[in-house]
Amino acid sequence: MKPRDRLRIAMQKSGRLTEPGLDLLKRCGLTFRQSRDKLFCFGEGEPVDLLLVRDDDIPGLIAQGVCDLGIVGRNVLAEFQLTAGRETAALSELRPLGFGRCRLSIAVPQELDYQSPQQLSGLSIATSYPGLLGEWLRTQGVEAGVVTLAGSVEIAPRLGTADAICDLVQSGGTLVANQLREADVLLESEAVLAGPEILPADERGDMLELLLKRLDGVIQVRE
Ligand code: ATP
Ligand code: ZN
Repeated sequence: MKPRDRLRIAMQKSGRLTEPGLDLLKRCGLTFRQSRDKLFCFGEGEPVDLLLVRDDDIPGLIAQGVCDLGIVGRNVLAEFQLTAGRETAALSELRPLGFGRCRLSIAVPQELDYQSPQQLSGLSIATSYPGLLGEWLRTQGVEAGVVTLAGSVEIAPRLGTADAICDLVQSGGTLVANQLREADVLLESEAVLAGPEILPADERGDMLELLLKRLDGVIQVRE
């Protein structure tokens, strides 16, 4: 890959993390030239550019070195860390960012009197997070079927394709609408700044250090 002297940050193109992410970068003193419907936003002041993509692609883009950093949910980063192959570059969570808070939870039909994970034994659980769910089931010593779905996980029990689900929950409104209730929390999530475990040791590294310093200032002021 061609060496780059500008820092490149991957961000969600359109979704829950887009506005708060852009707002945070703005408060770190970064401004960008291009309109938001484009894939690429050129940084005006500092040598920092944005790549606007689907959130699911962000960890892979960092691991491949296409981007240096990413703003992504801890849920997406953790799933990537569990499911990416050994040959993939290791990623780490550099900073929690304090927005996009949600939980990755087990939800069961409202009529099920859930007391412990052991009750999930032998059931099938639909999720978009097979890595995180599989790891949790292992640590609980529970053997259950995992049905991987890309979306609309919450309707799986009604359709009869699964007995329970493992999905992101914020207010719980979607669960209630689907006659489900939250039974157990696997992961407390929020948006994070993700980066490679080994940071670049060139101008990009210097810019990254400056950005982290500014982020710490901005996040502290907000707390
Ligand atoms: P994309 O088109 O980028 O794939 P998406 O539909 O996967 O979009 P969003 O629904 O915008 O993504 O969610 C992005 C992130 O926002 C999630 O990965 C999660 O970290 C966070 N989030 C916060 N609250 C919720 C919620 N109630 N449901 C889903 N995600 C949430
Ligand atoms: Zn997504």
